[in-house]
Amino acid sequence: MIVMKFGGSSVRNSQMIRRVIDIATTRLEAAPVLVSSAMGKTTDTLVLVASHAQGGDRDAAFALIEKIEAAHYTAARELVPGSDGLQRALRRHFDELRGLTQGIFLIRECSPRSSDAILSFGERLSTLIITAAAREIGVDAQLVDARTLIRTDATFGAASPEMQRTSRHIREQLRPRPDHLYVTQGFIGSTEDGVTTTLGRGGSDYSATIIGAALEADAVEIWTDVDGIMTSDPRVIPEARTIPTISYDEAAELAYFGARVVHPYTILPAVRRAIPVWVRNTTEPLAQGTCIQAQTEASGVRAIASKSGVTLITIQSSRMLNAYGFLRALFAVFDTHRVSVDLVATSEVSVSMTVDRDVDLSPIVRDLSPLGEVSVEREKSIICIVGRDVLRRADVLARIFAAMGPSPVRMISLGSSDINLTLLVAENDTVPVLRSLHNVFFGS
Ligand code: ASP
Ligand code: MG
Repeated sequence: MIVMKFGGSSVRNSQMIRRVIDIATTRLEAAPVLVSSAMGKTTDTLVLVASHAQGGDRDAAFALIEKIEAAHYTAARELVPGSDGLQRALRRHFDELRGLTQGIFLIRECSPRSSDAILSFGERLSTLIITAAAREIGVDAQLVDARTLIRTDATFGAASPEMQRTSRHIREQLRPRPDHLYVTQGFIGSTEDGVTTTLGRGGSDYSATIIGAALEADAVEIWTDVDGIMTSDPRVIPEARTIPTISYDEAAELAYFGARVVHPYTILPAVRRAIPVWVRNTTEPLAQGTCIQAQTEASGVRAIASKSGVTLITIQSSRMLNAYGFLRALFAVFDTHRVSVDLVATSEVSVSMTVDRDVDLSPIVRDLSPLGEVSVEREKSIICIVGRDVLRRADVLARIFAAMGPSPVRMISLGSSDINLTLLVAENDTVPVLRSLHNVFFGS
């Protein structure tokens, strides 16, 4: 079996849904399970619906529902002309959505539980249309409500699946049937008592890999609007290309540095079972995409990512010499202010670390001052060179530093894992450094 997950942009209108069904039907022999997100930005709009209702602006909430409604009816009409069944099902859903919204408006309160109920409509509506559209062209499609599959705890807004029960439900209800298309919702589940929950924003990938893992699927495919994971950000490096295969750790490292890829956490269920996760482009279905695997054979540099807007904080103190407890005191300050530190480098008498630009530094600097002399340098960028064995190969290091040219490196972090080397440079040097590194490792 295979699991094919389509993101919001892949099902944003009737043309895209048609494409999605085409892609799925070419794979019918593999007994696909199609997991879909909400159409386009529906979930974002539903968030606004709930907040307007809670804030007492009933008209604004209902106007947004009408907007969602129009988009869904249009897609339904274009894909399944004259289907009273689909129209009725949509109407029932919109009636329910209005009822809930009215309830939130009346009590001016939207609990996480109510919010999940509202947000669940995006996926429930999109999958109604997709299933009907697939049937319309003769595909034996069956909609399975994900709330009967994904059993979660009651942490509304970010519910955790109970894997054992969930797996059992999935195996019972999604038995492999070649030439049959199962359709189900990403993102949603339900508690033991049948109350609707969501897995957190962007949770459809997670749904897909949970289903893939339970079914021991041959592959999980995440269909989106990019060709896969790229060697660098194509907006900065036009020559960036798709990486054919990448290990899970490498992909996780890249995701952290803002590369537009699946969230590493959401693909863990598949990776743990050694099920390959493909990232593929719905508008370029012939492109290979990127395959994320637990392990890959390939070594060397895989990708180069960057993150600008970084601030460097350095603390100098002779008290550090031969002392213990210093680092703990230092990090306790960041802990207290709930600020996350990205890179750390230490010498005998100083510690440097980076934080995001938007962090309010004054309380932190104040609390750090008793520990030593604090200095702050802004407008830095992190450049992260990812690839297995980057650090084990001297030639790779030599090439990295040769490529840096005249751009000074402010800080280096290497060795904490063998899959990346991180450099801190001036923000202004980001693009030239990225270009030059990309050129050295991937050519132009
Ligand atoms: N529709 C949900 C969201 O926008 C889940 C998803 O797309 O993965 O967050
Ligand atoms: Mg999405």
